[in-house]
Amino acid sequence: MSSEDRNTNLPKVLLALSVFAAAIIVYYVQRGDAVVADPSNVGRNLVCSSCQAEFKSPINLDDSGSAIACPKCGAAAGWPLQYCSACDLKFPPPLIGDPPRPAPMPQCPKCGSNKSVGAYVPEFFEAMKETGQ
Ligand SMILES: [Zn+2]
Ligand SMILES: [Zn+2]
Repeated sequence: MSSEDRNTNLPKVLLALSVFAAAIIVYYVQRGDAVVADPSNVGRNLVCSSCQAEFKSPINLDDSGSAIACPKCGAAAGWPLQYCSACDLKFPPPLIGDPPRPAPMPQCPKCGSNKSVGAYVPEFFEAMKETGQ
């Protein structure tokens, strides 16, 4: 008797679970879309080549060639933080030349390749992880 009750209840439990799971997926997909769709409040992640402090600066397309002043030590030595998605490693860009500029295609210090290296934008990578599940 009791085993028959369990059998008849099982489909209802599964249905409730699948509705619950669908609600969670919809919540995460919507949240991920909101992050991707609004790049205006995503700052650039910079690293100071003088004191190694990491800080954020609003996106400014006009200053692509010059360093940003570091809020910690005041040196004009803030450059966009680089990130290797293959190694999940962020690293300061190697500086070359005089005056020093970040190397245009920096290599990841861990895997030695620049194929997966780009600007470090944590909001973007978090959104990719959530929607990729
Ligand atoms: Zn600094
Ligand atoms: Zn790497």
